[in-house]
Amino acid sequence: MLDIQKIRADFPILSQKVNGKPLVYFDNGATSQKPQVVIDAIAQYYQEINANIHRGVHTLSQLATDAYEVSRGKIQNHINAKHAHEVIFTSGTTHGINAVANGFASLLKVGDEVLVSALEHHSNIVPWQMLCERTGATLKVIPMNEQGELIQSEYDKLLSDKTKIVTVNHISNALGTINPIKEMIAKAHQVGAAVLIDGAQATPHLKPDVQDLDCDFYVFSGHKICGPTGTGILYGKEDRLRKLPPYQGGGEMIATVSFEKTTYADLPHKFEAGTPNIAGGIVLGTAVDYLNGIGFDHIAQYEHELLTYATEKLSAINGLKIYGTAEHKTSVISFNIEGIHPYDIGTIIDKLGIAVRTGHHCAQPIMDYFKIPGTIRASFAFYNTKEEIDAMVEAVKKAQMMLS
Ligand code: PMP
Repeated sequence: MLDIQKIRADFPILSQKVNGKPLVYFDNGATSQKPQVVIDAIAQYYQEINANIHRGVHTLSQLATDAYEVSRGKIQNHINAKHAHEVIFTSGTTHGINAVANGFASLLKVGDEVLVSALEHHSNIVPWQMLCERTGATLKVIPMNEQGELIQSEYDKLLSDKTKIVTVNHISNALGTINPIKEMIAKAHQVGAAVLIDGAQATPHLKPDVQDLDCDFYVFSGHKICGPTGTGILYGKEDRLRKLPPYQGGGEMIATVSFEKTTYADLPHKFEAGTPNIAGGIVLGTAVDYLNGIGFDHIAQYEHELLTYATEKLSAINGLKIYGTAEHKTSVISFNIEGIHPYDIGTIIDKLGIAVRTGHHCAQPIMDYFKIPGTIRASFAFYNTKEEIDAMVEAVKKAQMMLS
């Protein structure tokens, strides 16, 4: 059992009032709040060991380098990567996907196929479209059904020896669907395709085991897992990373440079050009420690309770429709109220202290599927409460009355 009041006390922002009302923060899918240990660790880095890493012989540089590499090790353990050098620091999910998509440019040719899913965030669509434009490869889409689940029989039909990479999210940010990625990865491997998993929405809710999943690449963002913005991870299997050309050139990523030829540094540095977000990378380790201290089993169980409770309460509102009713789903609820634009509801309930996301959630193809401009999305974290859900439900009812 989680002691929610104790956990909430770790997050200073949660005790704030917004528009004169206690803040109810249900926009966790966009970014999570940060516990005090994370906030303190950022200040501590700059107060005590700030220096550039992997360069200096001086003490501070070594301390900063050690802390950065310790954090890499924590992430390695957290996702169960076989080697620390398979863990690349990035600025976030978007960066990780672009790094892989760009690397694939030299590996694809006309006639090859890239499979994305109908449930993707724009950042897992656009880089692949750009890649296909550059290479002449074809982008194909795994369709979804009315519940917001990927249609596995269609996926089977799309896979062939032309498929070079399959890229799919672990959990959909717009609908909360948990995709059966382990099975999807195994099927892709049968035709020799690589698989990238966008774990941006999964990592706040579960601990991915990249060896068990057997994915080739797994990417996620630090800011959605209680860490700082501008941080993220690209995990790649060693042999995949070795074959992938680097995305950016510059300092840190080289072994030798002359005007005739440059040779690249070994992993992970080959993919870490320039001075990284050192404080961010170190503190991402602190965030992962914090979450593991709470325990992902506890988090998943509690968030499931919140999801069930909120689904029941919201469903009781007349004219309210929930999008995304997959059997396997995480604590995200996307909904609309008949005849009312989601933006109008979002604006009114903000005045009552409730922070939700409205719009297309960077997943326009999903909105097109449902023929709607957008939804209201409430996404819950382990520090939210049923009382907050009650406050949201009351606020939505009030907004409905005012607008209809
Ligand atoms: N993929 C998914 C599923 C997401 O939810 C997000 C963030 N909303 C991203 C990718 C992009 O993440 P970031 O903006 O942190 O790079």
